[in-house]
Amino acid sequence: MADIYINYGTNLQEMTYELMREADIASKLRPDMKIGIKPNLVVSRPADEGATTHPEIVEGIIRYLKDAGVHDICILEGAWVGDSTEQAFRNCGYTRLAEKYNVRLIDTKRDNAVAKESKGLTIKVCECAVSVDYLINVPVLKGHCQTGVTCCLKNLKGCIPDSEKRRFHTLGLHKPIAALNAVLRPSLHIVDSVCGDLSFEEGGHPVTANRIMLGFDPVLLDSYGAQLIGYKPDDIGYLRMAKDYGLGKYFDEDTKIVELNTKNRPVVNNKHISAVSRLSKYIEEDSACSACYASLIYALDKVSLIKIEKIKIGQGFKGKKLNGLGVGQCTSGCDKFVKGCPPKASDIIEMLENI
Ligand code: SF4
Repeated sequence: MADIYINYGTNLQEMTYELMREADIASKLRPDMKIGIKPNLVVSRPADEGATTHPEIVEGIIRYLKDAGVHDICILEGAWVGDSTEQAFRNCGYTRLAEKYNVRLIDTKRDNAVAKESKGLTIKVCECAVSVDYLINVPVLKGHCQTGVTCCLKNLKGCIPDSEKRRFHTLGLHKPIAALNAVLRPSLHIVDSVCGDLSFEEGGHPVTANRIMLGFDPVLLDSYGAQLIGYKPDDIGYLRMAKDYGLGKYFDEDTKIVELNTKNRPVVNNKHISAVSRLSKYIEEDSACSACYASLIYALDKVSLIKIEKIKIGQGFKGKKLNGLGVGQCTSGCDKFVKGCPPKASDIIEMLENI
């Protein structure tokens, strides 16, 4: 048995089915199992923009599960703070999928949460994620403006309530993400590496890789994925911590990889990675939520900046009297700030253009 299975091509549904068959997932299933599928629908944008999981991959999973005799299936997800999961389900093709295959859609924002102790933290996790017998994590491999990379480990953030997502940012993201993964352990990970955005979590700059990966160890998959898009695993704080917590091992020369249809492998380029590091020099950040930070990065990318002071953003500035520019309600103590929680990139652009 291999550690990582990879398939290349453009027929995503068939590729996924083929991967599951190759890894003999059916041998781990029972007909009475309750299965949860956790895609990445962080924003309400179609998958070809590089942010969200392709519904064709989830369709391949559902077809495989049904052919294996398992029928109690749900798709669970919660969009990021400030976005509607229902809208994301609809716009990303999941409402249609749920109707076609008679599977349930669960918005984790509306679910009850249970408290779990992990690594010195108490973490609230949505009930639907902990109550399934077999959780299939289906993240997108892409860049993230705060953590560098997002893939298997970080995708589980969609399984916690919005209030907890905000709190994760106040705790610096890395430790709580690693701790969450110590208490919520999906049985299987199928990574959408078809056209992930290498800079922006919310997409807009997709980079074609036409690749789907399957594995059981999220640390292994994330460390491999990080290297594929130009990062060292140790550069990603939560990944380093997850390895130290014993949640998996890093990819190395002993990792056994099985590749299918390698003739379909396209050339990937990493030229977008530098965009976030180039723009982050204009930001003074303290515990900013992802949606807020991404709006600011997106806005900075759209305006020409010559010399501006650093813009403050994040929950760490809440209630403080501050000089200069701020973004988001938390920075209302600044001389000038953009309203919203999270604020809109268009409003930030307007402020920047008026400076
Ligand atoms: S203003 Fe921004 S950083 Fe503050 S709570 Fe809202 S989204 Fe988070």
